[in-house]
Amino acid sequence: MHILVTNDDGIQAPGLIALALALQPLGKVTIVAPDHNWSASGHVKTLHRPLRVKQVTLCDNTAAYACDGAPSDCVSLVMLGLLPEPVDFVVSGINPNANLGHDITYSGTVTAAMEACIWGVPAIAVSLDTPGDLEGPVDYTGAAWVGSKVLEAAIKHGLDKEIILNVNVPYRPLEQLDTFHITRQGLRIYQDALLKREDPRGQPYYWIGGDAPTGVQEPGTDIGDLAEGYITITPIQLDLTAHQAIDQLAQWDWLGDDQV
Ligand code: MN
Repeated sequence: MHILVTNDDGIQAPGLIALALALQPLGKVTIVAPDHNWSASGHVKTLHRPLRVKQVTLCDNTAAYACDGAPSDCVSLVMLGLLPEPVDFVVSGINPNANLGHDITYSGTVTAAMEACIWGVPAIAVSLDTPGDLEGPVDYTGAAWVGSKVLEAAIKHGLDKEIILNVNVPYRPLEQLDTFHITRQGLRIYQDALLKREDPRGQPYYWIGGDAPTGVQEPGTDIGDLAEGYITITPIQLDLTAHQAIDQLAQWDWLGDDQV
């Protein structure tokens, strides 16, 4: 079992090392991750500049590859033959913030897993719901353990190649992490605000600011069940077709006044 571990927070992020160490008992782990933070970068394919990859040693002496592309580029390079051996599983994380509801379209953590899915390799994204007011370093112990349990179960039961598991872990001590809920995407409520300022040359610039998103805490959704303290596992797929709209749209008069 060859496991590719990646993330969107950059190769030095503590969540990446915590995840890689937790997965080592399950197979050979190779880390290929961006050389800097790509959070909220979405699904990227870098085509207009070259991609550079450097071999690096992480703070715990783990060998890894740092790439100057996006998380999805890292996965893509591996699928295209960067490593001598093929990869059986991709696990992305641990992101220090939850990826819930519509977040998955922004998330570099989740889109790295989506890239694996495109190549027919099963993938898991792991995110930790770190409290906004936490002081001191983030403790990834619980989320790393959850990541290893989810991968273990996915190997045992066989995860469909078209399904990505989007895992969100509440910020709780390890001994309180015992309930896995299979959920659907909830509805995020974004609180973005546009900040307009002036640069030193008098030109305006814009910055998307505002408060952290909240969400509708409906039971059965990732947002609702995570808020209740459960580990949430949302199976997602790349087929975004709105199946319920197909029949209705097929009845529309598309030619209008140009009827022949
Ligand atoms: Mn991130």
